[in-house]
Amino acid sequence: MIEIDASEGEGGGQVLRSSLTLSMLTGQAMHLTKIRGGRPKPGLMRQHLACVTGAQAICGARVEGAALGSTELRFEPGPLKAGHYRFEISTAGSCLLLLQTLWPALMQVQGASELELTGGTHNPMAPAFPFIEQSYAPLLARLGAPAELSLRRAGFYPAGGGQLKVSIPGQAQLDPFDLLEPGPLRDSGAACMAPALPRAVAERQLEALGAALALPPEQLQVMPCRQHEGPGNALWIWQAHEHLNTVFCSISEKGEPGAAVAQRTVRALSQHLETGAALDVHLADQWLLPLALAVRQSGRAAAFTASAWSLHAQTNASLIERWLPLQIRTQPRERGGVRVDVSSL
Ligand code: ATP
Repeated sequence: MIEIDASEGEGGGQVLRSSLTLSMLTGQAMHLTKIRGGRPKPGLMRQHLACVTGAQAICGARVEGAALGSTELRFEPGPLKAGHYRFEISTAGSCLLLLQTLWPALMQVQGASELELTGGTHNPMAPAFPFIEQSYAPLLARLGAPAELSLRRAGFYPAGGGQLKVSIPGQAQLDPFDLLEPGPLRDSGAACMAPALPRAVAERQLEALGAALALPPEQLQVMPCRQHEGPGNALWIWQAHEHLNTVFCSISEKGEPGAAVAQRTVRALSQHLETGAALDVHLADQWLLPLALAVRQSGRAAAFTASAWSLHAQTNASLIERWLPLQIRTQPRERGGVRVDVSSL
C-alpha cells in the first residue's frame, strides 16, 4: 500500500488524478490522505469524484472514501479492462481532466476502448478541448498512443453538459522522444467559440488577436455552435511548429471584456515564445506522466524543454518518482524555463 499525503507540494487535484492513473497501471494499492489539502475547500469535488469512480469502473477497484468532500481515499486496483464506458460529471467539472486520468491506463490495456464523457469541455484552469485535440493528443500519438477525439457538444461553466467521445485503440507500444525545441513555425491561426453570444463578440476578439499577431483574416475562425450550448466564450491561438503544436486557450470570466481576453491570450503566447522552449507551462506538467510511462516501458531516457516549471509540474514530478523507478531532473535554461530529463533509475 503506497501512502501519499496529497497536501504536499501544490496539494491540488492533480495528486489524486496522477495517483489514480499510476495505481491502475502499476497494480499497487494506495491510501491518500489530506486530499486537496492545499486548496481553500479541501476534499473531493464532483470532478475529482468522477475520476475516482471512472478509475474504479475501468479496473474494478475496491474503494473506500469515494464521497463528496472526502479527504481520504483507499484504492485497491484490479485488472484494467478495455470497454465502452460512459461517465458523467453532473457539474461543469472538466471532462478533459477525467480523460487524462483514464487515457494513459486504457492506452496500455489489451483491446480497444471507447469513452463517452459529459461535463465541462471548455473550462478555465483546465485543458480545454482544442488544447487536448490539437496539442496534447498529437504528442501522445507520436509517443505510440493515438486516439480519436470528437467534441459532440461544448460545455462551459456553470451549465456544463458538454459531451466528448474518445476512441483508444489500446496495447500502445510507447517510444519516448526528445522535445528540446519547437522547430520552425509552419502555420498558425486563432479561433473563437462563443455559443449563445452575438457573433460580433467572437469577431471582435478575433480581430484583436489578428491585429496583435499579424494573422490574415482567413486564419481567424468563428467556430460553429450548436443549440443549447453555452453561454460561454473560448478564444484560442494555435501554432503548428515542426515538432509540436501549441495552443493557448482562454475562457472568458463573467463580464470580462473581449479585448482583455485577447490580450491575456497573446501575453501567454509571448511569454512562452520568448524562452524558445518547446512545451508551454501547461503542456509541460501534462506531458510528464505519459513520457514517464514511455521511459519506463522502453527503458530509454528522454528530455524536453519547458518555458516554465510550475509548482504543479514539480508536484507531479515528485509524485511520479514515488510511483515509478525513474529520475526526473530539471536544470534552468539560459533564455528562461527549464530542461527536464526523465530516465530510469
Ligand atoms: P484543484 O481544484 O484542486 O485546484 P483541479 O483538479 O481543478 O485542482 P489542478 O490540479 O489545478 O486542477 O490541475 C489543472 C490542470 O489544468 C493542470 O494540468 C494545468 O496545467 C491545466 N491547465 C490549467 N490551465 C490551462 C490552460 N489554459 N491550458 C491548458 N491546460 C491548463
